[in-house]
Amino acid sequence: MVKCPKCGFEVVTPIKTWSLPSRKPLRKGEEAGLVMGIFECSNCKARFRSALTAETEVEERVSIKNMVERIKGIKGELMQTLKNLREKIKTLETERANLMIEIEKLKKVAESRVNALESEVNMLREEVKSLRDLLGYSEETEK
Ligand SMILES: [Zn+2]
Repeated sequence: MVKCPKCGFEVVTPIKTWSLPSRKPLRKGEEAGLVMGIFECSNCKARFRSALTAETEVEERVSIKNMVERIKGIKGELMQTLKNLREKIKTLETERANLMIEIEKLKKVAESRVNALESEVNMLREEVKSLRDLLGYSEETEK
């Protein structure tokens, strides 16, 4: 967090950052170089350069970490949704296959019923014809 040189407003996030290499030889635990940033004051819109304070860097890292966590969460949700959809598709495909089998069965039942009716009608025709023959009617007289 740095303060705007014009109005003193506190700016949290830099627009751009870059590192300056350190001139001093590095001691143990020392940060390699200085991180500079361009900031824009959200109060007066002034743009200025400033070295990033440790606090700013930490806040930035925290927000990046949060973002990574959020992305992970979103990814997890998407994976879950995808898994659910796959399971749903699988269920629907099984149901469709079962329905197709049932339709086939019904078709066969209907076909065999039609066949049975056809042979019954043929038998009745034969019966009618033999009755006509018995009674002396020929089919020619009907026409
Ligand atoms: Zn300002």
